[in-house]
Amino acid sequence: MSEIIKVLKGTKDILPQDVDMWQFTEKKAWEVFSKYGFKEIRTPIIEVTELFARGVGDTTDIVNKEMYSFEKSDRSITLRPENTAGVVRSYIENGMSRLSAPVKLWYKGAMFRYERPQAGRQRQFHQVGVEMFGIKQPAADAEVILMAVNFLKSLGLCDLEVEINSLGCPKCREEFKTKLKSVLKPYYNDLCEDCQNRYEKNPLRLLDCKVEDCKKIFEKPEVQAVINSDFICEECAQHYNELKTYLDRANIKYVENKLLVRGLDYYNRTVFEIKSNNLGSQNAVCGGGRYDNLVEQLGGESTPAVGFAMGMERLISLLDKKEAAKLDCFIVSNNTQEAFILAEELRNMGYTTEMDLSNKKFTKQLEKASKVANYAVILGEDEINAGVVSVKNLSTGEQKTVKREYIMEIL
Ligand code: ATP
Ligand code: MG
Repeated sequence: MSEIIKVLKGTKDILPQDVDMWQFTEKKAWEVFSKYGFKEIRTPIIEVTELFARGVGDTTDIVNKEMYSFEKSDRSITLRPENTAGVVRSYIENGMSRLSAPVKLWYKGAMFRYERPQAGRQRQFHQVGVEMFGIKQPAADAEVILMAVNFLKSLGLCDLEVEINSLGCPKCREEFKTKLKSVLKPYYNDLCEDCQNRYEKNPLRLLDCKVEDCKKIFEKPEVQAVINSDFICEECAQHYNELKTYLDRANIKYVENKLLVRGLDYYNRTVFEIKSNNLGSQNAVCGGGRYDNLVEQLGGESTPAVGFAMGMERLISLLDKKEAAKLDCFIVSNNTQEAFILAEELRNMGYTTEMDLSNKKFTKQLEKASKVANYAVILGEDEINAGVVSVKNLSTGEQKTVKREYIMEIL
């Protein structure tokens, strides 16, 4: 025998017994997002590498370490590590700015990041996400957060925490960056290597560090004083306050977290995450925020935007496992030819139906039926001759014989 080939590290098969949960989640996404006027968009999994370098930002871990890139005909191509950049590219390329604002889009699909695989972290994983273009007012941020919460509720997940923060605008953030750098300067040598790199390139992202020694430095009183200072300008503060009023009025509970900065470069003003305490250390199911400069950065007209992405594996791991759905009917018959025709009639009536294809004994067929179906449709020689079938309800044991054309009245 040849050696077996295994799935790549950090990737997983989604097996038939788990697919129900995926379909359930995707259907709910469609139902809930449609209610708010969002339309699905499907963009390619491969894009030119430059899209992510410019869109996600070349100071991020994603672009620096995690992209699956390859050369083809002298072009550098990348498997998408996230889908906001792709959706923005499509928005610009297809002239969606001519549509009346807001343009509301949602997507689902596989993303690829070369990360260290661990619980809650894969190299191929799936996201469902939304983007709303054209509205700068905080009502848009609030609608997107409300919709995320309602989607999670529709899946039966209520025990989640919403965290919010405002990163201000590029102007007010500049001053904060300078202050943060100067207060952290004495500790520079104690910071982890990643943080030392971020120190010059993107000091805000230091606050996102998960390394314990770095976290301890951020807890120092003088560093806390800078983190907790109200650095955002008046306009940004007003935007943030209005957002909170919307969330209060919609009864969305949230926690303000000054350390929440998000891993991607494109955010400004609102950022948010939704976390679950039942997920261990990879506890974020949803991350999002406002990115008013990205469309312009990728060559479009300046357009405000806000969105989020959720990790589907993490979401699905929180759901109660559903029992696999049973078939409506399993046909029990020793006449395979007749059963074959009846099975197709039942399917045409809309019932999920299987039959025995391999001439097993009648009793074996009945056993199988009771495992996989809600009804056994029995077609013995007597039934065939009389033009009837016997329908057995496999949970109550009740059995009725009817003419074939009346079968719908029992099932
Ligand atoms: P994290 O801090 O967990 O790495 P992130 O900031 O990199 O998250 P985003 O890029 O905003 O995450 O993606 C949004 C969501 O996608 C995350 O909240 C998470 O649920 C999910 N996600 C991100 N990376 C992975 C991964 N490697 N495997 C599984 N899910 C992921
Ligand atoms: Mg990450």
